[in-house]
Amino acid sequence: MTANRPKRIEDLRKKDDLIVVTGAGGFIAGSLVRSFHDKGFTNIRAVDKKPLEAWYQKTPGVENLVLDVSFRDNCVRACEGAVEVYNLAADMGGMGFIERYRIECLRSVLINTHMIEAAQRAGADRYFFSSSACAYNVDLQKDTQSRALKETDAYPANAERGYGWEKLFSEIVCQEYSAERGLKTAIARFHNVYGPFGTWDGGREKAPAALSRKVIEAKDHGARAIEIWGDGTRTRSFMWIGDCVNGIDMIMHCDELIATPINLGSHELVSVNELLGIIEEIAGFKVARRYDLDAPKGVGGRNSDNTMIRSVLGWEPSTPLRTGMAKTYAWIEEQYALRKAGNKVVL
Ligand code: NAD
Repeated sequence: MTANRPKRIEDLRKKDDLIVVTGAGGFIAGSLVRSFHDKGFTNIRAVDKKPLEAWYQKTPGVENLVLDVSFRDNCVRACEGAVEVYNLAADMGGMGFIERYRIECLRSVLINTHMIEAAQRAGADRYFFSSSACAYNVDLQKDTQSRALKETDAYPANAERGYGWEKLFSEIVCQEYSAERGLKTAIARFHNVYGPFGTWDGGREKAPAALSRKVIEAKDHGARAIEIWGDGTRTRSFMWIGDCVNGIDMIMHCDELIATPINLGSHELVSVNELLGIIEEIAGFKVARRYDLDAPKGVGGRNSDNTMIRSVLGWEPSTPLRTGMAKTYAWIEEQYALRKAGNKVVL
């Protein structure tokens, strides 16, 4: 799928250009930092508000700064000398978190407004913002078989309460910094990302990790049933972390996509029951389902329409869910065993 890929500016980047990544103590940004390092970039600044010992990944040779980027002065410090800024910091989690803590989600608006101003003032060339499929109009997602969402479906706006509205507003901020001040902004709407180093317990975890953990626990305790949020028929697509970091890099360096929100997600739609079926097969262990119909469950169905990303980049996230889940399950199982043995783990 690479034949029609347009010319990108990637080759113009120098390996020692300063790359700043916020949210780097978390799942996606931590993996992004590692991928830049593995591609040979030598000047990377990773920023997160969590104490260093709580970061999910720490990549050798990277400058790690513990800063809360909802404060202006910290953003100025974070962006000093930056050529590229990737802002992935946000207070977020799975449905259990974003339905319960809408104010915390909305307050992430401080992060993007201060970070983009600091990036532009520091003379950064490009700025990336991690938006979300939660920015889409929820009326289009009531049915489990709703059609896949295309980029224009964010308007007329009726985003997910709290989290989705913050993303939609911050997208507009990025678009205006491009229009008025010439900052090259890139905006990707992620659809559920999963993989190793993602949250798997504690209340912020998403369905692939939560279901994996529940199956591992059931297997360990000899339990026959696990609790499922909702009735199991809701549908989603899930993107492998490796596809996510590759997509971020391509979107950031495609001039056709400046200030243009674009889907970054898989097109492989599954129901919660089907996802659990995949996990059971990987685990070699079957569980009975106890459906909790009062638990947070989100929209009925959501999938990513990848027409735009295919046509502009000649690429789309395509790692099969079964392949990515086998690696994710193995990683969570390992973390579970380490924790059980009294070791400190990624959480
Ligand atoms: P994550 O929770 O693992 O990482 C986010 C990190 O941001 C955390 O380590 C947190 O400590 C940090 N952070 C929060 N507030 C901060 C602040 N004020 N200053 C500095 N650091 C701060 O989440 P993730 O899954 O890696 O998500 C990364 C980005 O992608 C977020 O913007 C999120 O909204 C977006 N996104 C993620 C998904 C997904 O499925 N994981 C889907 C859509 C969008």
